[in-house]
Amino acid sequence: LALGLTAGLAACAPAGSNDAGGEGDAAVAECNVGISMPTRSLERWINDGEGLKEKLEAKDCTVDLQYADDKTDQQISQIQNQVAGGAKILVVAAIDGKVLGPTLESAKEQDVTVIAYDRLINGTDAVDYYATFDNYKVGQLQGEFIEEQLGLAEGKGPFNLEPFAGSPDDNNAAFFFSGAWDVLLPYVESGQLVVPSGKSPADNEGWTAIGILGWKSADAQSEMDNRLQSFYTGGDKVDVVLSPNDSLALGIEASLDSAGYQPGADWPVITGQDADVANVKAMLSDRQSMTVWKDTRELGTQVETMIDALVAGNEVEVNDTETYDNGIKVVPTYILEPQVVVKDDVQTTLVDSGFMSAGDAGL
Ligand code: BGC
Repeated sequence: LALGLTAGLAACAPAGSNDAGGEGDAAVAECNVGISMPTRSLERWINDGEGLKEKLEAKDCTVDLQYADDKTDQQISQIQNQVAGGAKILVVAAIDGKVLGPTLESAKEQDVTVIAYDRLINGTDAVDYYATFDNYKVGQLQGEFIEEQLGLAEGKGPFNLEPFAGSPDDNNAAFFFSGAWDVLLPYVESGQLVVPSGKSPADNEGWTAIGILGWKSADAQSEMDNRLQSFYTGGDKVDVVLSPNDSLALGIEASLDSAGYQPGADWPVITGQDADVANVKAMLSDRQSMTVWKDTRELGTQVETMIDALVAGNEVEVNDTETYDNGIKVVPTYILEPQVVVKDDVQTTLVDSGFMSAGDAGL
């Protein structure tokens, strides 16, 4: 991966020419960047925002970093303020992928270049680039992990599965679910996976019915409480939970705890995503089986590389021009690869790479 190769560019010097490289490239007059992140309530977004700000400030860019408390109105007014304050590049991780169009269209009138960060922004042509991890693959890795842990391909079963999905307003959540469900649905249909709660979408489109709005741990917890209390009477046990990310996994694990499930004994297989500190600890104490790790530093480096190119008037490098259709255009995208981390990999992946300290991980 040729990440970071352009780091030596004097990226934040004013562009000498307005003649930007590739199609759709905007000429950017100065490295003045507004970063708009959804919430501080998830560790990953704190790392994302602060990591990117640090990288850009190290090369003398002007950076305004805002968190919107998972409130769309707040995100809109923060973005408007950033544009009014002179931002020439916006890096936006949208709370709701469908509502930012008009705000970004006004930003475009001020010659602002928009990079969608991690989550695609839909229904507008006012998004120039997208940088993300392969969101379908995140779900696929979760589905394949479950398949392998349970020996589904060898015909084992039946197992009791409880599937969860992400926030219905987040464009990524559909990709996560499709990736997982393409692996798991055939086993539901064969009867190797049984969903006692009945919360089993008949196809990939049905996921919004089991989505947890705002990715809230507490809501995942009460949903799991309800399922356990209503459908697991008479000694039935959950064998496996499809959780799309770590914040939901935490809530589900709290629910399993209070229902008396024991790690190392009857605790179910449970998936996650993000490698948040609390979830890494949960893996080390056998309360979470895996997490899909997306090295947010890599994503930051990729966006930094895009910004370098924009400011220097060079072509912005992307590696995908087919996948992310936002309804109005296919947004040129740089896609990064996610990876599975289990308990035994915590040291060699998360700690050795410096993503997390051994102390934080609880090693
Ligand atoms: C991100 C995940 C994150 C989730 C909740 C998704 O869009 O890709 O990494 O866990 O939002 O914040």
